[in-house]
Amino acid sequence: MIIKNVRILGGEPVDIRVADGLIAEIGPGLEGPETVDGQGAVALPGLVDLHTHLREPGREDAETVQSGTQSAARGGYTAVHAMANTSPVADTAGVVEQVWRLGREFGHCDVHPVGAVTVGLEGRQLAELGAMADSAARVRVFSDDGKCVDDAVLMRRALEYVKAFDGVVAQHAQEPRLTSGAQMNEGVVSGKLGLTGWPAVAEEAIIARDCLLAAHVGSRLHVCHVSTAGSVEILRWAKSKGWNVTAEVTPHHLLLTDDLVEESPVGAYNPIYKVNPPLRTRADVEALRAALADGTIDIVATDHAPHPVEDKETEWSAAAMGMVGLETALSVVQEAMVETGLLDWEGVAQRMSVAPARIGRLAGHGQPLTPGSPANITLYDPSVRTKVDPSAFASKSRNTPYEGMSLPGRVMATFLRGRPTVLEGKLV
Ligand SMILES: [Zn+2]
Repeated sequence: MIIKNVRILGGEPVDIRVADGLIAEIGPGLEGPETVDGQGAVALPGLVDLHTHLREPGREDAETVQSGTQSAARGGYTAVHAMANTSPVADTAGVVEQVWRLGREFGHCDVHPVGAVTVGLEGRQLAELGAMADSAARVRVFSDDGKCVDDAVLMRRALEYVKAFDGVVAQHAQEPRLTSGAQMNEGVVSGKLGLTGWPAVAEEAIIARDCLLAAHVGSRLHVCHVSTAGSVEILRWAKSKGWNVTAEVTPHHLLLTDDLVEESPVGAYNPIYKVNPPLRTRADVEALRAALADGTIDIVATDHAPHPVEDKETEWSAAAMGMVGLETALSVVQEAMVETGLLDWEGVAQRMSVAPARIGRLAGHGQPLTPGSPANITLYDPSVRTKVDPSAFASKSRNTPYEGMSLPGRVMATFLRGRPTVLEGKLV
């Protein structure tokens, strides 16, 4: 198959010949019996998400492996890491193999299960990290995401343990006592609205401690969904020491701020903006963008968190935390980072494919679009602007904060090892 007229990382138009799941040849004027018209789209290596909630097993009303990976493919992703906070929790070889098998059977992209750090995400006892690493799922990323591993001794042990198989502990940095009952960012807006605040220090204190622990035991730490300017300062310091620390930021923390809770197109106290960690201030957003641009934050990860209507469309204090994100991630990154001149397409490819694949130790993803690489390719048209229509999502859930918002760009096609999963913007 020939993919005609695409611009690799936004460069000059070329054609790509795909054979046996690999990129066979790149050049002008390639001909063959089967062609796909790339229409001058930007070609990126297939996107890799380090932080997706697929909800299966247990909450198939919110999302399944099938619907979640369809959503991922439509967003340009060829691989996702499925978070462990399912029911049952993915804390044994049996459960991670179940998720991995569901991915093989129903996945529209590759599914790499994340293993829980502690049994039942309860923070008391280490889960079977070695058994999950040795299982068919070959788990390399471990996280209690949704909850913080707040016990310093357990966190130290987990960091020590994963070294044996080159794993990484991905921490949801949230000091639980400082955020007991917290509803939104602690600041001017929370004060005005009378909602319990979620102080930045609750995130920053854990990140600082974990960077020190990772350095102490010489292990790999990954920090999930960094949301504050202070966290960026700590990461900058840890990296300046040469410590093995990586970090992610979500698309929503690059674009949205906490004053939406007070005043937004959909009114005040709308739980669509309720998310963990919470939306922060404009100054935080600016710091996160600068950190993603200069490499202090390594990657964009969606924290795609589907919830059914009844869990989201309720009063603020009762509503579930989280937003869907797979199908809007690239558009939001274009809006926040490319339109602002902070990143070019090569920079986007690094942060949404190359680096997340490296952190997750996925050999078959995040490779340069050159002959011999797996044909994991995303075709993206950055020239259009459309209003976000959640009813068109492939996700089972609709909890997007961008409904009706005009965002740039559109994923035209996604190829997984040469096989199209999305063509003309539609699932194949
Ligand atoms: Zn989290």
